[in-house]
Amino acid sequence: MLRTTRLFAALVLTALATAACGKEGSPPTKGPAAGELPKYQVAEGFELTKSGTWRKAKSRGRFVVGAKEDQPYLGEKDPASGRYSGFDIEIAKMVSASLGLDPGKISFKTIASANRETALQNGQIDYYVGTYTINDLRKKLVGFAGPYYMAGQGLLVRHDEDDIKGPRDLNGKRVCSAAGSTPYQRIKQDYPKATLVAYDTYSVCVDNLLTYQVDAVTTDDAILIGYAAKVPDELKLVGKPFSKEPYGIGVPRGDTTLRLAIDDALAAREKNGDWKKAYDATLGLSGVPAPKPPAIDRYPAS
Ligand code: GLU
Repeated sequence: MLRTTRLFAALVLTALATAACGKEGSPPTKGPAAGELPKYQVAEGFELTKSGTWRKAKSRGRFVVGAKEDQPYLGEKDPASGRYSGFDIEIAKMVSASLGLDPGKISFKTIASANRETALQNGQIDYYVGTYTINDLRKKLVGFAGPYYMAGQGLLVRHDEDDIKGPRDLNGKRVCSAAGSTPYQRIKQDYPKATLVAYDTYSVCVDNLLTYQVDAVTTDDAILIGYAAKVPDELKLVGKPFSKEPYGIGVPRGDTTLRLAIDDALAAREKNGDWKKAYDATLGLSGVPAPKPPAIDRYPAS
């Protein structure tokens, strides 16, 4: 009986969320107003002619940036205005400004976790900012500037869940994650007794959690905290982070000039306070105070 009532409540919640934003899979959000966000000064007369990606963007007059559209506090698209907001979006904007192109003109494209490498390889986007973990496997396919933030894998469960407290409790449980993501891969390798369910996006996983189709959602804590904040009476994060997920800015692999210029841009924005301002206005709304950004890894071209 209790279960039925809760299921009904969850369904109503999902329906409300869906109606409120007119699109399935993304809960409604209240992000910061545009006026509260930092303004990034555009570098005057900046040139990076050795970078093919930069030259293309310069003649186009704007960068085309890959991002997420359903990750609260990080990368979210307002369905009414089409405007993107969140910490990753701010990072994309400060980088554009440092590379001499108006951040207000960026054309954002939503790219799912599984399609990031192809999008960069095909030249569909100039760079990618969307909870993108730097690792050696991916470095064979794309380049990474940064890291600009350190996340860790976590677990999101329903509020009344008592059995799952960490990844070891996932045996025989249904766990949802995004295809092509590092959290999906880690469960597959390290916790093979869990039943893995994959979708393109984490917001679809969360809908499945609310409607009792899965028992847990796993991905970075920074992402999960945003979903939990939308429906705190229904969902909670459990356990400690069980991985390190350094977030990088994906660039085409051959364009080392662009990669190192973005490293310089990040370092400068961390130094002048813009990084912290951006964090405070976005991810900081989750209640977690700004950490010290991780050390930037200017690795040599190979
Ligand atoms: N940071 C992890 C990854 O890059 C999970 C988040 C995501 O899928 O974007 O795979």
